[in-house]
Amino acid sequence: MLYTKEMTPPSSPFHYCPACGLKGIEFLRQKEFRCAACGFRYFHSVATAVGALLMHDGKALFIERALEPSKGKLGLAGGFVDPGERAEEALAREVREEVGGEVGVPELLTSFPNQYSFRTAWYHTCDFYFRADLLTPPDRLISDPKEVASLVWLEPRDVNPDDLAFSSLQAFWRFLLSSGRLE
Ligand SMILES: [Zn+2]
Repeated sequence: MLYTKEMTPPSSPFHYCPACGLKGIEFLRQKEFRCAACGFRYFHSVATAVGALLMHDGKALFIERALEPSKGKLGLAGGFVDPGERAEEALAREVREEVGGEVGVPELLTSFPNQYSFRTAWYHTCDFYFRADLLTPPDRLISDPKEVASLVWLEPRDVNPDDLAFSSLQAFWRFLLSSGRLE
């Protein structure tokens, strides 16, 4: 599956070949740039991202996003996997950076594709969702104000998937509610 209903294939973010500077670089199958003038080829590969389902007393931890995209909407602690990093390490790092907490060994639940826009650039991502124990007491969490406007604890069944940031997170929440993984 390349695109879900709500995911419209975006147009190319590049107009000039980054190797030779000529105009007219082709964008093929949403993933490959080709320059007919100099033969340059570049793959716009899918980026790996992670999201953390952190539960405490039956409630899930959300972050109110302080930054675009989806500023003001609810997301999970998480982010992009860095070069050379394992997905599990990225999850622990992002939770530490965004909410100041430590996590136990994460369990992979599922994954969904997403498109992530940042200013005029965009990325295809595959978002991996993990459940992990939060080892830090909730009242000791310290969120990063640059990325997080507030921390929000919600009963999973009270969350309307449509209110969540990103189509992949909405799909994850529907998966979670129908999977029995919350029982
Ligand atoms: Zn070129």
